[in-house]
Amino acid sequence: MFEDIPVDVSPMYEGERIRSANMFVELAGPKSSGAELVQVAEDVEDGALEVVGPELSEMTEGEIYPFGISVKIQGEKLEKELEGVIERRIHELCNYVKGFMHLNQRDQIWCRVSKEALEAGFNLEHLANALSILLKEEFPIIEKISVSIFTEESEVESFLETARATYEVRDARARELSDEDVDVFYGCVMCQSFAPSHVCIVTPDRTALCGAINWFDCRAAAKMDPDGPIFEVTKGEVLDNIKGEYSDVNVMISEKSQGVTDRVYLHSVFEYPHTSCGCFEAVAFYIPELDGIGIVDRDFRGETPLGIPFSAMAGQCSGGKQVEGFTGLSMEYMRSPKFLQADGGYERIIWLPKEIKDSLVEFIPEEVIGKIPTEEDAGSIKEIRKFLRENEHPIMDRLKQAKEEVEEPETAEEVSEEAEMTVAPMTQVAYAPELSMPAGGGVRIILKNAKVYAEKVIIKRK
Ligand code: SF4
Ligand SMILES: [Zn+2]
Repeated sequence: MFEDIPVDVSPMYEGERIRSANMFVELAGPKSSGAELVQVAEDVEDGALEVVGPELSEMTEGEIYPFGISVKIQGEKLEKELEGVIERRIHELCNYVKGFMHLNQRDQIWCRVSKEALEAGFNLEHLANALSILLKEEFPIIEKISVSIFTEESEVESFLETARATYEVRDARARELSDEDVDVFYGCVMCQSFAPSHVCIVTPDRTALCGAINWFDCRAAAKMDPDGPIFEVTKGEVLDNIKGEYSDVNVMISEKSQGVTDRVYLHSVFEYPHTSCGCFEAVAFYIPELDGIGIVDRDFRGETPLGIPFSAMAGQCSGGKQVEGFTGLSMEYMRSPKFLQADGGYERIIWLPKEIKDSLVEFIPEEVIGKIPTEEDAGSIKEIRKFLRENEHPIMDRLKQAKEEVEEPETAEEVSEEAEMTVAPMTQVAYAPELSMPAGGGVRIILKNAKVYAEKVIIKRK
């Protein structure tokens, strides 16, 4: 089937990583631009393949090039709603090609070609060919398919514009529905190939964390292939409407995660947050010092207020783990009125990159938008605190209230030098994504995702 392609094509290469030492060129990614798009169309010329712009043989080793993958499909039973789900498979299928690595989705894609693949005679037309064969095989309802690959800068730019406009149409459609309007949600386990216990729950308000699949896409996919990786999940009993906890969703997550996760709050980063595979567009993270939540996205290059960049944070909370205080999310979820509603929504957000903030102007409540600092306003916890105070961010009331509660024993009649707070046996009293402690012998102990449990909390007057 793949005899015209000079490298192997098989699911066994899916986990292959191409490190910079072994890389011939990089395509798209954070230092360039690119996108992938599947469109249902009329008059598709079946089997047509084209590369617009330089082929690999015309590229220079070690360079980075813009990159677009445009797939047009036609078939009697193909609905437009299936575009997003078919598009999402490009990631997995491109990775079947030995010597080609594909990360992320939509306009976030990031690819690499290995030196060995180039030496074997591999070129981008072979990639287009493999993709067209694999997609047809995976989705028998595709009757005709054509694949175009763009590497010429101006072509990629105009393709990117079309792609973004298409994503927006898909996303806007889902925005009209809300969780209460539907009887069923959907689950997706497409990412279990690398995050074996991860299950995405997709609801009208919570677009999948990869940002590429919404409730409508899932509905079409589950209808087309009920035994496939996307399936229907009934809600069951609403256990908590604000947190977004449903009995049948919990049961399904437990079953599909092989018992690793058995409870999920769809709209909170606390206690039982939605798990994260690795393809999230952004991460929400708790900042314990200020009792607020920060957001960082994949494109943000600097350090977050926790002192680590996006990549390090992603490493801590991906792989399908449920890590309290962190949750991966899509940009679209940040446009939902239910966005982390159990935690206070935007009133609890105390830091986010400027680029995200600008893109969410219509969705962040007017009364709070000017009060949330970006990297341009504050970087450290201290600077954030100052900005929040100066701009009267609602979190300040929360902090003040919490402080008053702690200080209360001192204002009581019997002012003692030491106040004791008895908590339930071994209650979690603090949480820190990173806790650093000096130790003897010139070493420092760093605890990651530390949870501190205590039998008693003692508050001493300084
Ligand atoms: S991130 Fe979630 S919804 Fe997106 S492909 Fe992976 S499992 Fe499916
Ligand atoms: Zn994923």
